[in-house]
Amino acid sequence: MEQDILVRKLKDIVGDDNVLTDMAYLQAAETTNYHTNQKIRLSIKPANTEQLQQCIVLANEFAIPVYPISRGCNWGYGSRVPVADNSILVELSNMNRILDYNEQLGYVTLEPGVTFQQLFEFLREKKSELILSATGGSTGSSLVGNAIERGIGTGLYADRFASVCGIEAVLPNGELVASGFARYGSHTATNVYRWGSGPSIDGLFSQSNFGIVTKLTQWLMKLPEYFQLVAYRLKDNNRLPALMDKLQDLTASGLVRPTITMYNDFRVLSTVMQYPFDSCTPGKTHPNEVLEVIRKTTPFAPLANTWNGEISIRSVSKEHGHIQASIIEAELKPFVDELFVVEIAKEEMLQTLHNHYNGITGDREADALRSYLLRKYIGIPENTPIKQTYWRKRKPLPEIMNPDADKCGMIWFSPIVPFTGHDIGKAIDIINNIVYKYPFEPAISLQCMTERAINIIGSINWDREAEGEDELAAACYAELNSTLKENGFFPYRDTTMGMQMKSKAGIDDSYIRFLSKIKQAIDPNNIMAPGRYNIL
Ligand SMILES: Cc1cc2nc3c(=O)[nH]c(=O)nc-3n(C[C@H](O)[C@H](O)[C@H](O)COP(=O)(O)OP(=O)(O)OC[C@H]3O[C@@H](n4cnc5c(N)ncnc54)[C@H](O)[C@@H]3O)c2cc1C
Repeated sequence: MEQDILVRKLKDIVGDDNVLTDMAYLQAAETTNYHTNQKIRLSIKPANTEQLQQCIVLANEFAIPVYPISRGCNWGYGSRVPVADNSILVELSNMNRILDYNEQLGYVTLEPGVTFQQLFEFLREKKSELILSATGGSTGSSLVGNAIERGIGTGLYADRFASVCGIEAVLPNGELVASGFARYGSHTATNVYRWGSGPSIDGLFSQSNFGIVTKLTQWLMKLPEYFQLVAYRLKDNNRLPALMDKLQDLTASGLVRPTITMYNDFRVLSTVMQYPFDSCTPGKTHPNEVLEVIRKTTPFAPLANTWNGEISIRSVSKEHGHIQASIIEAELKPFVDELFVVEIAKEEMLQTLHNHYNGITGDREADALRSYLLRKYIGIPENTPIKQTYWRKRKPLPEIMNPDADKCGMIWFSPIVPFTGHDIGKAIDIINNIVYKYPFEPAISLQCMTERAINIIGSINWDREAEGEDELAAACYAELNSTLKENGFFPYRDTTMGMQMKSKAGIDDSYIRFLSKIKQAIDPNNIMAPGRYNIL
């Protein structure tokens, strides 16, 4: 009865078509890449901020929790599944306007439903020289959702939340708040200066449950005149610590500008092939044997290096670029097994962007590796990395990948580690030792976004349709989390499984107590994404 009244009132606000109660739809939204039990009461798709505010007021009247998602592609972290049972899913896909754009100052102001693909197309239509910091996630994922989770992109603005300002959010009581200079509405510096004056409140809306972000400004990089990528390979994991110390030194000295990225063997291989089921048995064959099989029997052997790294260089001319690259090359060569440089001038970058926009892919044939490496750095969003989620699936890749619906098992673990060879080597050993034991094949990237810390972004992938694999993966994840923490390595971003593990264990520290006081003050009915990031 209560549900009927709620549905009718919600329909009055957002329209009949935007209140979804269909079982099949809700069951799909209740599915992520690992086992969950939470049910979704219903889903709503408001068209604008006013509708959203009214829905939140209603949720308070009924004391029913809401769980906002922008595009819901948070694969490997929990997708669309709320932390709390029986929530209303608030899907912001219909709020997808690009509200402002400034070519000279390099920014766009976005609603939460704007996808990477949409922004890419918008920039091409404007013939812009601004580029996206693309992620390995879906082209259909959202910049706002990614920013809120403090996601990682590519290039100078890889730390997405660090290049965001002017956040507007609906608070748990339905009121609207704006951060920084956005509080003044039309302040000239709203979109170009993060802090405003007084306490900065941006952080309250990331990895939290204090509000629903309805708008933010995302800064964008400018295409350089000349771009180079120093790509390097390491065959022996024992050489990793020395290489990392060298990279830290190059970064701290200013010769190399973050982001520096490195991918391990399985991270690269799983984006180009699936598990070699013919010769290996998941859960039985040791990952080193799996690698041996791939090296001996597949055309992907050249990609099966222990580590594959990338340093990007932006320059004002070819000459400038070549000087920088040659210094970096000389510094790095003693620490790696192979090194090569790919380069591209601005005209070719613009042509590549134009071709991609127009569906022209012929230019990729000549040198597939060069083309692949460069595309992601010049802001082309692509779905190729998502193939990774199908690594252990016993069927071929579908044309349209949907890791939730296709029961792809995946969970991320993402500890922050000081940028020293010792710490990184230690964390990687912990990860490999645990993951090999189960065994899964760890897919890992190292993201250096400053000269002080490394984000280790690791995942395990499995087949949710294979009996027992969900349970095995959950056990592996729990062991990884606890062992990494015992050694002082805590994740930069949490999965909903991680949040639930913490809430079971109980956490009581000064940080959570402080946030809980804020939460209780602004959300007395605890309707806004209860339990997210363990803020109650
Ligand atoms: C193979 C693969 C590669 C990936 N590579 C990357 C990568 O390189 N970098 C990276 O960062 N991620 C990566 N991901 C993870 C994920 O796909 C992306 O982070 C993606 O951007 C998240 O989906 P979304 O943008 O649709 O956000 P959503 O799923 O919509 O949002 C994420 C979470 O933020 C909260 N939220 C969303 N919108 C709002 C809002 N408006 N107000 C308040 N809270 C909100 C919700 O709790 C939601 O669960 C990858 C995933 C896969 C499977």
